[in-house]
Amino acid sequence: MTSQANAKNPDVLVIGGGNAALCAALMAAEAGASVLMLEAAPREWRGGNSGHTRNLRCMHDAPQDVLVEAYPEEEYWQDLLKVTGGITNEKLARLVIRASSTCRDWMRKHGVHFQPPLSGTLHVARTNAFFMGGGKALVNAYYRSAEKLGVQIRYNAPVDKLDIQEGRFVAAYVGGERITAKTCVLAAGGFESNREWLREAWGQNERGEWPADNFLIRGTQYNQGVLLKHLLAQGADSIGDPTQAHMVAIDARAPLYDGGICTRIDCVSLGVVVNRDGQRFYDEGEDFWPKRYAIWGRLVAQQPGQIGYSIIDAKAIGRFMPPVFAGVQANTLPELAQKLGLPADTFMKTLNDYNHACRIGTFDHTRLDDCHTEGVTPAKTHWARTIDTGPFYGYALRPGITFTYLGLKTDDTAAVRFNDIPSDNLFVAGEMMSGNVLGKGYTAGVGMSIGTAFGRIAGTQAAHAALLTKGARHANA
Ligand SMILES: Cc1cc2nc3c(=O)[nH]c(=O)nc-3n(C[C@H](O)[C@H](O)[C@H](O)COP(=O)(O)OP(=O)(O)OC[C@H]3O[C@@H](n4cnc5c(N)ncnc54)[C@H](O)[C@@H]3O)c2cc1C
Repeated sequence: MTSQANAKNPDVLVIGGGNAALCAALMAAEAGASVLMLEAAPREWRGGNSGHTRNLRCMHDAPQDVLVEAYPEEEYWQDLLKVTGGITNEKLARLVIRASSTCRDWMRKHGVHFQPPLSGTLHVARTNAFFMGGGKALVNAYYRSAEKLGVQIRYNAPVDKLDIQEGRFVAAYVGGERITAKTCVLAAGGFESNREWLREAWGQNERGEWPADNFLIRGTQYNQGVLLKHLLAQGADSIGDPTQAHMVAIDARAPLYDGGICTRIDCVSLGVVVNRDGQRFYDEGEDFWPKRYAIWGRLVAQQPGQIGYSIIDAKAIGRFMPPVFAGVQANTLPELAQKLGLPADTFMKTLNDYNHACRIGTFDHTRLDDCHTEGVTPAKTHWARTIDTGPFYGYALRPGITFTYLGLKTDDTAAVRFNDIPSDNLFVAGEMMSGNVLGKGYTAGVGMSIGTAFGRIAGTQAAHAALLTKGARHANA
């Protein structure tokens, strides 16, 4: 079905090597276009942030294989509306939501397998379909399928600029090498790995700190935002705020890049979180953890020194996904404060005030229960239980940036736009345009829903535009 890609002048050039790029390449190849993919990373690091993922959020009106009960369009939309505070494009968001209900058969066709969630994940058996073997297996399956369809793949091929003329893609450059194609899909991630850009975006705070200097990057080091910056400089329409991102509180001992899922600290809602002055700063029980885990990176980023400490007692053990590094353990709370380097007096006052404020009803971590505090600020509105049973544990937290939301403005055709005019041969997918749907906030699994929906649209559009050009040339010949 697919013509073998002409590596010099393919129909479709796909820039990137993660989920969005792969979905685009597969769709374009299925539509009969020759496709060349340029991945910045070497083969062993291919797949970008997508290799770290575990699931995608799926709308469904009735139980579907691994998904229980129903998760209708309206509920999905309301969830998105709530987390983004309304900063979302409803048309594009609903497009993503609807596409999430039908994409899994196509994913299976390309070798992706699903499994029910393991216990300890984020209350998501109803809403999220988990990839068997995680994102790495998904990415590997897509690469295998792409190769079978004749997609040419080049690794170690970071594109640094494009030749764009009057809103049309002409060529891409990998260093001095010029690569032409009829159409192009941009799926090269956000700029989360670019520490300089993050520093510039976040600036200096009132304490004279540069908060971004203390961020850790949860995923790939290759999403430097080179093309995003280049496109914005070329006048492409943008969307989103450069400081908005998916940011999680992660283990402060995580590596600078690629710590992945196992460095996330998921016990926040089971205890309290204090800053380096020993003071609480936010309601740890505000909502279910999947709807709230992505605000904690930003909350920690706002604290002095960009550090926080998640504190639990023995009652919480076994109720959350254990992180890869063991917590700091102590038999008493003062000992824990000392081991964590926190001011013991303030820490003990915070814990005592909290413990006295707990009004314990029927603890149930699977629903918004009635265990709450009274007379303490900030309140803990659910799952509030006294922290009084040793051993006690503490985890130092740092802001872990997952992906940035500043991106290229697009529409339901995935076209890149210049002065509000859609390009007829340049398309965008994944993190590079996620800001159209995610103005802020996050709900677990929507990143892969956006990348899958728009990757597939961008690939189809790019193939059609390329084949139309070809058809027109033949007709004129
Ligand atoms: C630890 C972690 C866990 C996550 N878990 C989930 C989850 O369970 N569910 C979910 O929905 N989302 C999750 N996400 C978010 C998810 O990874 C992203 O939303 C999604 O993978 C984005 O896909 P993408 O293809 O746009 O970007 P990526 O997968 O990051 O791919 C970008 C690609 O572009 C390449 N690239 C970058 N610059 C260039 C260039 N100049 N030239 C050529 N190539 C370039 C990179 O090497 C990379 O291959 C997680 C992210 C992380 C970090």
